[in-house]
Amino acid sequence: MILSAPVLTFASAIFLLNRLSSVSRFLRQYRHEVIWILYNFVEPLLRNRVFFSKAVKIPVLCYHSLHARDNSYTGNDHIAMQSDLASVRSLGYRLISLSAIVDSFLTDKLKRYQGERVLGMSFDDGPDYDWHDYEGDDLGFMPSFHTILKAHGEMAFEFNKPFSTSFVIASPKARQELDKSCIAGRNQWQDLWWRQCVETNIIEIGNHSWDHVHESLSSVALESQIKGSFFAVNNLENARLQIKQAHEYISRHLSGEYSHLFAYPYGHVSDYLRDEYFPNYQNEHWQRAAFTTESAPITFGANRWALPRFVCGQHWKSSEELVKLIQSL
Ligand SMILES: [Zn+2]
Repeated sequence: MILSAPVLTFASAIFLLNRLSSVSRFLRQYRHEVIWILYNFVEPLLRNRVFFSKAVKIPVLCYHSLHARDNSYTGNDHIAMQSDLASVRSLGYRLISLSAIVDSFLTDKLKRYQGERVLGMSFDDGPDYDWHDYEGDDLGFMPSFHTILKAHGEMAFEFNKPFSTSFVIASPKARQELDKSCIAGRNQWQDLWWRQCVETNIIEIGNHSWDHVHESLSSVALESQIKGSFFAVNNLENARLQIKQAHEYISRHLSGEYSHLFAYPYGHVSDYLRDEYFPNYQNEHWQRAAFTTESAPITFGANRWALPRFVCGQHWKSSEELVKLIQSL
């Protein structure tokens, strides 16, 4: 028997309707289960496999070489950093520079690190201990961050590029005063090492403001003279005194060869700096991104002017805790 085309079309339509109604009955009956499966299995798969660039999470760690009151992990960031580097290396993690992270972030290419175990490393305040080894009766020999990193040089993801960032306080007068009030007053907060440091390709220099509006200073570069809070940097005049002025000093000192990255003192991020000054005055401050101390990894959706960092002693207190923290991301 030969079936005509209209009959075949009609039969197919009936068959399809029948199937659709079965599917619809099934969905009505099991809608909660279907939603549960979609939410728990399908959505994470899509997020991680298809939109993989959004799944890349890069932790950036922050240490303070000034923190060295004894020779324990919690009392000395030099000891902590050596221990942490050994731990993360055994897990297969490698270091990449904050500049490389920011370059990839700004050009939407974070996905290049998909599947790689990479992390960034940074230091705040810029005392000489970032660069110079220390030897004293109190602590014995204490290797600088530079010496420690040099020993771990093979961890660098991209050779011939600095793989860590030292965010320095720019004002020579402020550093001189802080050297007396915060450490032993042996003139160990200088800028003589900056250029040599940049040339070794291990540590790059970043901007940590003009004077940190530090509470120990006799006066700070702010109209209000409010000390100890970077939230007080909340208008154009203050932003220029703290960020633009620091940029100009560091840039002059290094003939422009610095990272053009900023780290907020105390991790204090004022709305004005994040939403107004940094985005709208780039042709005067020339910063490419700004780092906070918010406890999170860098991801696709992060704010360029408030990139997070984990801080040693605040967000983890042992190498075991650091490993757990990184593995939980
Ligand atoms: Zn600081």
